[in-house]
Amino acid sequence: MTRDNAGAWRNWAGNVTARPARVRTPRSAAEVADEVTRAAADGLPVRMTGSGHSFTPTASTDGVLLNPGGLAAIRSVDAEAGLVTVEAGCPLHRLNAELHARGLSLTNMGDIQVQTVAGATQTGTHGTGRDSGSMAVQIAGLELVLADGSIVTCSADDPRAGLFDAARVGLGALGLVTAVTLRAEPLFLLTAREEPMRWSEVISRLPELTTENEHFEFFWFPHSDGCLTKRNNRSAGPARPLSRWRHWLDDEFLSNSLFGATCRLGYLAPAAIPTVNSAASRALSARTYTDAPYKVFTSPRRVRFKEQEYAVPREHLADVLGQVRDLLRRRDWRISFPIEVRVAPADDLWLSTASGRDSAYIAFHVYHPAPHEEYFRETEAIMTAVGGRPHWGKMHTRDAGYLRGAYPRFDDFVALRDKLDPERRFGNDYLRQVLGS
Ligand SMILES: Cc1cc2nc3c(=O)[nH]c(=O)nc-3n(C[C@H](O)[C@H](O)[C@H](O)COP(=O)(O)OP(=O)(O)OC[C@H]3O[C@@H](n4cnc5c(N)ncnc54)[C@H](O)[C@@H]3O)c2cc1C
Repeated sequence: MTRDNAGAWRNWAGNVTARPARVRTPRSAAEVADEVTRAAADGLPVRMTGSGHSFTPTASTDGVLLNPGGLAAIRSVDAEAGLVTVEAGCPLHRLNAELHARGLSLTNMGDIQVQTVAGATQTGTHGTGRDSGSMAVQIAGLELVLADGSIVTCSADDPRAGLFDAARVGLGALGLVTAVTLRAEPLFLLTAREEPMRWSEVISRLPELTTENEHFEFFWFPHSDGCLTKRNNRSAGPARPLSRWRHWLDDEFLSNSLFGATCRLGYLAPAAIPTVNSAASRALSARTYTDAPYKVFTSPRRVRFKEQEYAVPREHLADVLGQVRDLLRRRDWRISFPIEVRVAPADDLWLSTASGRDSAYIAFHVYHPAPHEEYFRETEAIMTAVGGRPHWGKMHTRDAGYLRGAYPRFDDFVALRDKLDPERRFGNDYLRQVLGS
């Protein structure tokens, strides 16, 4: 997230700009409540941002924009109970490092750790997991400022259970989160086994790979048969981290510096992309290492891109991937970024993309200046034909009319929003699109 000289707010990908009437950095829940009361007196909407890593204009506002930087502390860690309470704007890397130092870890997470805790969870940020779901599933309690300026807490076992089920993935529509309590578990080790595999083998072994591994995902290089599979499983140790050299070579040089250069080359000379993708998928070598979970799950992402990601019912995964492959054969697009496939078990959060069904995630990326419109539109059509749900923080064209049919608890969420925020203090254009006016 950046602000330019004219005061405009811009997201990480650079595809969303906002011009808020005023920007504030509250330092406590009480100061957030004051900002909400002041905004109401001025007739302005309010949004709080995370670190601007959403590709949708979900955080945008022309009213009052609250920065997360003043609310970034770790409030308490109870190692015995396995509970950590952090302020909403705490970046995930700070949380992970603190938990690690206390002999604890989150169970599962996405592939980067620069988002804030509230920003990541409000859009349903997820990794891949056979048994463990998104970050929001790991929330044990929330502290929120509501549209009337009151500060409330909610958890699974209090009378506001509906609020808890709705607000963990709340899109910032029900209240401003000021603190989050997450469940953590005793620190464990993960062994990462990364291995190139041909498309036909991955597809035929999907049921086995997703059930025999705790965390399975794969990247498929479009215009080629090459895939990179990743299997992360708990291990009794000992820790065998990547050497500094291998970490630099794979995660900095090949995944960022060289990949950035090949993306620039592909942007200037798209005809080269199929050759580059085939070469890249062949050049990948297998590696195995064992390390703390956050060091295995996350890695730096320095090449900017735009992304669309859909959650589809798990049973449709192989079929929709086959349709995407056929589509890419028919069209003359040149896609330099791999397509990423992950899984998650069903959960019961009202607007979680895995709500009520075992899910598979399929993510489509393009280099940030490259055109995405046709590629995203036509792959989106394949996803929506099976009732796919778009990631709330990633590009899509769905509106409330479609989403109502995709989420069994959609109307409950909207009704709760009507009750808590009838004047749409937390409204913005994105929420009008996805939730209705
Ligand atoms: C390089 C990259 C890698 C990514 N990897 C993954 C991944 O592995 N898995 C995945 O699922 N997603 C991934 N994403 C998407 C990203 O995790 C989500 O879009 C996430 O919401 C971004 O968090 P943020 O802190 O940047 O929040 P922002 O994008 O700034 O905000 C997200 C939403 O949360 C709201 N919000 C923020 N703070 C508060 C608050 N205190 N109270 C109420 N509402 C609030 C905002 O208003 C907005 O609606 C990735 C994105 C990028 C750019």
